[in-house]
Amino acid sequence: MDILQGIGVSSGVAVAKALVISDDQLRIGSHTVESKKLEAERQKLQSAITASSEEIRELRDQTSRRLGKETGAIFDFHLGLLNDPELIRTFINLINSQRYSAEYAVYRALRDYAKIFTDHSDAYFRDRVKDIFDIERRLLSKLTGAERLRIGELTDPVILIASDLTPSQTASLDKTMVRGIAIESGGKTSHTAIIANSLGIPAVVGLEGVIREVRTGDIIIINGHEGRVIVDPDTLTIDESKFLEQRQIRHATELDRLRDEPARTKDGVDITLMANIEFPHEVDYAMRKGAMGIGLYRTEFLYLGSDKPPSEDDHYAAYAEVIRRLAGKPVVIRTLDLGADKYSPNLNLPPEANPFLGCRSIRLCLASQEMFKVQLRAILRASVLGDVRIMFPMICNMMELRQAKYVLKDTMEDLDEERIAYNRYIRVGMMVEVPSTALMPKPYLRETDFLSIGSNDLIQYTLAVDRGNQRVASLFTGAHPAVIRLIRRVQRAGRAEVKNVSLCGEMGGDPDYTMLLLGLGLRTLSITPNNIPEIKQLIREITLKQCEKLASKVLKLEHGHLILNLLHDEMRRYHPDFYRDDVSKLAHHSQEA
Ligand code: PEP
Ligand code: MG
Repeated sequence: MDILQGIGVSSGVAVAKALVISDDQLRIGSHTVESKKLEAERQKLQSAITASSEEIRELRDQTSRRLGKETGAIFDFHLGLLNDPELIRTFINLINSQRYSAEYAVYRALRDYAKIFTDHSDAYFRDRVKDIFDIERRLLSKLTGAERLRIGELTDPVILIASDLTPSQTASLDKTMVRGIAIESGGKTSHTAIIANSLGIPAVVGLEGVIREVRTGDIIIINGHEGRVIVDPDTLTIDESKFLEQRQIRHATELDRLRDEPARTKDGVDITLMANIEFPHEVDYAMRKGAMGIGLYRTEFLYLGSDKPPSEDDHYAAYAEVIRRLAGKPVVIRTLDLGADKYSPNLNLPPEANPFLGCRSIRLCLASQEMFKVQLRAILRASVLGDVRIMFPMICNMMELRQAKYVLKDTMEDLDEERIAYNRYIRVGMMVEVPSTALMPKPYLRETDFLSIGSNDLIQYTLAVDRGNQRVASLFTGAHPAVIRLIRRVQRAGRAEVKNVSLCGEMGGDPDYTMLLLGLGLRTLSITPNNIPEIKQLIREITLKQCEKLASKVLKLEHGHLILNLLHDEMRRYHPDFYRDDVSKLAHHSQEA
């Protein structure tokens, strides 16, 4: 029994046989052909392009129906490239001038393209290399007649093991057959992680060596919460995991009954549970899970699958769809938080040594005001359709906040001149995710309508721990006393200024922290839709008094691990059925074994 530790990106436990998707290249037969066969090669190539395009179109339409238009748009890039006249000319030239077989011409031309993209200074192009390999594999499988593994057509439940999934593989995932995903590369914000999470498939990324350790057919246990994969578990561990898997399914069904119940503590304090989303279609799921609105809409995902920045109308269409689906409930639209771990648009930015500390997020928007205004115009236009609020990310000084507000005001004036309607009283807030603002929140509170604590980045910047690097993942914790003090500071300042302070990082969706956050005074949490029912159930089982008592105990402790143990024990005291506890025990048991 081997245990591999990675980064959990989508929670849940699953047991199934492994299906290893190897990166082996498809075997290319002969490299050159006789002159009299060149015409046949050209025709073979044309048919392969036509058949592949047909397949991609079908995949795009299916994906758009299941996961929304933005995800389906991944395939527009594939279609565009596959039918690019210049690329087709290159294929044909290689066949004509070098007498290459169709498959070898495809291989050579696309490898050259991939090399150009790999070396590109812009991360957007570097990210597209995976798409080029995806296209290559599709064309080669048509040309060589080799059967390509179709993830959308699996007939038995599996846990997928891969170095990474291609965008088309990720988009065709079928939850009933793909019980889990374990991949070598990637961070929390990779395409694979985002889509696995929105489909509710347990997933672990950053698993170095998983491809070598696991063979197709091996029994695997995946624990998406702990970020662990157990290879070849013993019978006892398998039985325990299967039991947990079933219990988890039953538990989720039971929790869904709480959907219309309030998130009210036993002593009558109402907590507002909002959802974090990346795509408009996620609104329906969030509502089914009982969200009272969208507390964080990460709009940078509009860049997913597009080879050019979204237009004002693209932004507007996405926002209008979110607002329509919300039917009156509020949405906080966060302005573009591009760069570092988020998609970088085609802006030809120079590479940076420390992208997390570089020209990203609000800094990038202020440096590219034309791009920023395109988004602000769309948000303002959409603001007349429902309860819309704007939130600026990663503000680190007052100047940035004022500049962002100035650009917003300027955009309002443009709309006034053009006689375009918008809500001039739109609420404007900012994220507190840099220690400089958490340390002195008052001036920011005075110039905004609300603050939202982004604990993911606040932890990263306070503790100097890269949030996506598995080698330092054990240092990344919200239980650090310094992080807890910063949260308390922001919350207290908000109360004094009578402004709402919420928290929208992953800490908010982790039951270990619920009592502490309430005890520190927070009353609004914005979390992954999947976590809402469970957090609500916990809130309904505790009193605010208990939370406040716990918070004051925590504030006396100076070590993160002591704090975490205390939080965990306390949560289990009021919420003994919580399945994750069993899951972590299972992992510990396995580790000892
Ligand atoms: C955060 O930093 O906590 C946050 C919610 O934003 P993101 O994860 O998108 O950076
Ligand atoms: Mg952030």
